[in-house]
Amino acid sequence: MSIAVTRAVALRGIAGHVVDVECHIGHGLPCFELGGLPDTALRQAPQRVRAAALSAGCSLNARQLTVNLSPAAIPKHGTGFDLAIAVAALAAAEAMPADAVRPVVHVAELGLDGRLRHVTGVLPAVLAAREAGCRHVVVAPEDVTEARLVDGVRISTAQRLGDLVSAYRALRGGSRLPEADEPVSPTTREPGRTLDLADVSGQHEARAALTLAAAGGHHLLLTGPPGSGKTMLAERLVTILPPLTSAQALETLAVRSLVGAVLPGRLDLSPPFVAPHHSASTAALVGGGSGAVLPGAVSQAHHGVLFLDEAAEFAGSVLQALRQPLESGQVVVARARQRVTYPARVQLVLAANPCPCGEGYGKALACRCRPTERRAYAARLSGPLMDRVDIQVQVPKVSLADLSEVPPDTSAEIAARVQVARDAQRARWQRHGWTLNSQVPGPVLRRAPWRLPRGVTATLDRALELGQITGRGYDRVLRLAWTSADLFGRDVPTSSDVGLALMYRTQGAVAA
Ligand SMILES: [Zn+2]
Repeated sequence: MSIAVTRAVALRGIAGHVVDVECHIGHGLPCFELGGLPDTALRQAPQRVRAAALSAGCSLNARQLTVNLSPAAIPKHGTGFDLAIAVAALAAAEAMPADAVRPVVHVAELGLDGRLRHVTGVLPAVLAAREAGCRHVVVAPEDVTEARLVDGVRISTAQRLGDLVSAYRALRGGSRLPEADEPVSPTTREPGRTLDLADVSGQHEARAALTLAAAGGHHLLLTGPPGSGKTMLAERLVTILPPLTSAQALETLAVRSLVGAVLPGRLDLSPPFVAPHHSASTAALVGGGSGAVLPGAVSQAHHGVLFLDEAAEFAGSVLQALRQPLESGQVVVARARQRVTYPARVQLVLAANPCPCGEGYGKALACRCRPTERRAYAARLSGPLMDRVDIQVQVPKVSLADLSEVPPDTSAEIAARVQVARDAQRARWQRHGWTLNSQVPGPVLRRAPWRLPRGVTATLDRALELGQITGRGYDRVLRLAWTSADLFGRDVPTSSDVGLALMYRTQGAVAA
């Protein structure tokens, strides 16, 4: 009996586990058994592997093959194990050297013609391989660019299984497979026009609100009539946020890799901006789905901005499903056999019309909605999710005077101020385990040593007494006042910071 072992990666969410793929060839009746918790797609691997091996000129049909994926307790899914199974089987059949394939991780699907095919999740798989100390991974030609995003791992490829067999056979005395060539046409994305906040005319309040949101990590609601530029503003929030670290950027791309997105050839450090349509299902927004548990929009926006345009048009249940990820920074999907966790640390930006017809702003002279319609609309943007939104701001239509104004600050200038404000927050909260004002629980800000003097909170206290804001609204105003102080370089908020924060609490609300 002969045995050969090679490696593959089992993914659970974006976390991967390197798996040993072990093949025994016995002398009994021909068969091809696969053990170690395979899912339906993986259980069909023997057919694909047999056909691919035949096309590579090495028939496995007359052999008694037993393949084990260990550790057996980890569930394994998808078609990405095909190549490793074929390599282990062919090495066990002595069609190629067993010692050469032993340390190499193989991640690709096999076509019946022996072609190595793309699989989703190559980036998290290569990251997991590196984490486990593996230094050599073989992927399909289409996946080379994605695999190369990970430093410190040798990436090899082959068009067909037959080519890989020949390459392994040609190895002499401890040499390794050649590194994959640089892709002939590297995926150059359209450079396009870079977004900048200086493109937005007028909208001083909204720009200031965006700066506060970026500085303190506050969730934001923009309300205004159609065509006022809410989307333009929202998509520019990422241009004033601090750049991601390489580790954060890789984590975000790893999520996108699982949903089959084409990844850039180079690591992009700008935070992601993800804008799902209002018809999105709960699974599309927070993750799940009927077969494999896929990450939703909130995870694809990890470390960046999740923008819900026409937020009142999303199904209420879909919006409420966002509460858990906003609270914990992750999505947990429980299934019968496993729990999958996806990261989901996002900044939420909601945009909404002031009323169903969109004209109910200012004196609302042109609004055609009935009062009941306006109330129902406003009710959709209330409740527990809105409790997490610290800033609400109105975005009016742009006037002619706005269009002729001198261009205001650029994104780069604002980003520099945001960074200074973030450094101040980190210095203040670090030892308590927070980095941003938006993460600080309300009670902390209401008690010594962070409690503000009565003179500073007078207007806020009065708003609470008059019932203009709730207790939770009170805490949100405090959080925002600290961010305002950090932006203006003050050690402690003044009454003007509190006044500004209170304005952003009360003025933007969708009026019933
Ligand atoms: Zn209306």
